[in-house]
Amino acid sequence: MEDDQTLTSLLNGDIKIPCPTYFTLGKHPLPQQIVDKLETSDDEICPNLYFLGKHSTTKTSEGLRIVSLGGLLDSEITAGLSKDKLLPFHTEGDAKALHGANTADILVTSNWPTSIRSQSSIKLPEGAEEPLAEECVADLCSTLKPRYHFSTSDSLFYEREPFFHLDNENQPDSSSVTRFISLAAHNNPSKQKWLYAFSIDPNAAPLTTMPPGTTITPLGSSRKRQRQPDNEQSYSRFSHQHGDHYRPKKRLRQPPPGPQQCFFCLSNPNLATHLITSIGNDAYLTTAKGPLSTSSTYPALNIPAHILIIPLSHSPTLTSISPAETKISTYKEMHKYRQSLQSLLNSSSKGALGAVTWEVSRAQGIHTHWQFLPVPADLIKKGLVEAAFKVEAENEKYPKKFQTKEIGDGTIEQGDFFRVWLWRVEGDKGNEDDDGDSDDDEDDDDKMKGTEKSLVLPLSAEFRFDLQFGRRVMAKLLGLEGRMNWRDCLQSDADEKKDAESFKAAFKAFDFSLGED
Ligand SMILES: [Zn+2]
Repeated sequence: MEDDQTLTSLLNGDIKIPCPTYFTLGKHPLPQQIVDKLETSDDEICPNLYFLGKHSTTKTSEGLRIVSLGGLLDSEITAGLSKDKLLPFHTEGDAKALHGANTADILVTSNWPTSIRSQSSIKLPEGAEEPLAEECVADLCSTLKPRYHFSTSDSLFYEREPFFHLDNENQPDSSSVTRFISLAAHNNPSKQKWLYAFSIDPNAAPLTTMPPGTTITPLGSSRKRQRQPDNEQSYSRFSHQHGDHYRPKKRLRQPPPGPQQCFFCLSNPNLATHLITSIGNDAYLTTAKGPLSTSSTYPALNIPAHILIIPLSHSPTLTSISPAETKISTYKEMHKYRQSLQSLLNSSSKGALGAVTWEVSRAQGIHTHWQFLPVPADLIKKGLVEAAFKVEAENEKYPKKFQTKEIGDGTIEQGDFFRVWLWRVEGDKGNEDDDGDSDDDEDDDDKMKGTEKSLVLPLSAEFRFDLQFGRRVMAKLLGLEGRMNWRDCLQSDADEKKDAESFKAAFKAFDFSLGED
């Protein structure tokens, strides 16, 4: 009752908050009055009091980048983002979505990262139990390398020695040192510290020496573990030699502009999450907004299947994703998604449908992605799809010509480009034994037995390239001129949801992200 009155005073503005204050979800539900307020307003509860959201990236007016992941892991949901923004549960998808933030000054999570206390000599108080820890929180911390990581522990305060992260070559990176601090609950009976004061300068230069007592990162990222089964050993090379004798690695610190406003950043709180159909480690799928093909375009499919394959990293091109390790794994996973989608088409249409996947890669872009669209395999076989792209480029008087070449993640291609893959199954028949969920890339390649061609059109500043080029070509070719502009094809939320759900159901058997972990 007393709490309710305090809340009312707060909401009425009778309690003044003296300085900007941010909060996220903890392990308990928010009071109903706050839920009501958040449902009808943006994230400001009252002047100077802001809700960070359950999973969010925030840049404060001082320039501090705060990433938060509130709530406890909801293991019931194996894929996707949590639906409810205000309940104290998150999914692994919520955590992975935040990897796209790339960096953070401050990371706030309700739960601890797994194995945070290893390599540490700081003891917990007598009889204290270590709080719940999550692997996905450890992965998030390893990816963002925040300067401070704050967490919670009901009846205990814990501050770990600072730790440094490793760079791609598994070398210590002294420019990224994290301090992990876990606060006890406000007014806890054991009188453990629940408040922590510190100063942080958003413009501070990266550290050149490590603070005393710094240890190697205790967080063996599961991602690294999958790729480098041997890393325990390579880590141990450093475990006794921290100090200031590591030369700092020069790192490019350029936080990308505005992931919070980005259409394709999962950390954007206003993202149309109901379009999301699968989330992997480095990329995710959504159904296209205002799709070119609808559920009646291809009766064999009975779903729109116009799909976007999007990297989690906020990056204008694949080439510019850093570190290189992430660039490579992102390209690989997007490729894997493309193959899985192709497997779905193959299985549903018995080879009658091929696919076209296109990408606009421009350094001036915002968040790169691929558009995937089913197309009758016959059109590809007869060379009509290829011709359609070439003719349209000529009609537009683009000075450059399409070249047939495979450019992988685009690193070898200098400058901006438009790329399209044309894929169909050899022999116009389905591939019966394809179950689509193999873990092995090479194996998948073999199994699909498709033919594929990659066409690349170099772009340059000398001509204005229409970003809707790919869609326009395909709309004309498929006789869908009326749907050329996606804005003319917008659907109701309910229809979008229905389409996403029916796609998910059809894709389930081919979605490798569901089988992991
Ligand atoms: Zn983005």
